[in-house]
Amino acid sequence: VKGDDVITTLARSFNGMADSLQSQIKELADLSEVQQRFVSDVSHELRTPLTTIRLAGDMLYDQRSGFPPATGRTAELLHAQVERFELLLADLLEISKYDAGSVELEAEPTNLVHLAADAVEGLRSLAESKGTRLNLVAPGGHLDAEVDPRRIRRIMHNLIGNAIEHGEGKPVIVSVDSNETAVALSVRDYGLGMSQVDVNHVFDRFWRADPSRKRTIGGTGLGLSISLEDATVHRGWLQVWSSPGKGSCFRLTLPRTARGEIASSPSPLPP
Ligand code: ADP
Repeated sequence: VKGDDVITTLARSFNGMADSLQSQIKELADLSEVQQRFVSDVSHELRTPLTTIRLAGDMLYDQRSGFPPATGRTAELLHAQVERFELLLADLLEISKYDAGSVELEAEPTNLVHLAADAVEGLRSLAESKGTRLNLVAPGGHLDAEVDPRRIRRIMHNLIGNAIEHGEGKPVIVSVDSNETAVALSVRDYGLGMSQVDVNHVFDRFWRADPSRKRTIGGTGLGLSISLEDATVHRGWLQVWSSPGKGSCFRLTLPRTARGEIASSPSPLPP
């Protein structure tokens, strides 16, 4: 009888704990829903005034040669900051879509060699402005996978852009490999690199390596977190190897078919 009492008491207290845990989880879910809606609403609300500021800023920027030098520089600053604001807003909207679970993958057979080549060409002038040689190492012909080309293009643009920005003018190599189950797109640079602590945070939202870099290189700190979401929604992997002073390698591995599984990666990360 004593044993039964103990069990009944235990069962009651477990029930009580389960109930309170459930209500806490619900509270948390409600909070995160409120937060998601807030980010999405704020981003939408900011778009309209920003468009007006953009138009006024463009007008001043176009006329800057007629202004006294200090005013001209202010017009340039305004122009650059409005552009940054627009990028930030676009990134925030994208993140809020992922948080709300409302991202639809528009997968179609895509030639990843062409996609990588287009990304390289699109960033060639940025690379040249930094004295960076941009190389593509890819098999000839077709290498098709079922992916959402817009999202994969965005990842490649982000990874190659980062490699150029942090590459200190050293060469950047973009490579494409494949096996039966997967395709890998790698971006290797020989620049600044990162410590292990930095690597652990590199996909965190708004995270950027040490403050001295924040001042010299402009960005939102959201690029890699969106790239990771883009990779994950494809059931793919986004991995990084990095070493201070030796550079970094980011590798995107994607299943060849939209519902496929990756058995192994087609190419190794640097040792
Ligand atoms: P952003 O480029 O807007 O700062 P990202 O999310 O793309 O945001 O990158 C976050 C941070 O990761 C960068 O600010 C930088 O400190 C670090 N990082 C990204 N790519 C590289 C790279 N190839 N080499 C060194 N550091 C990098």
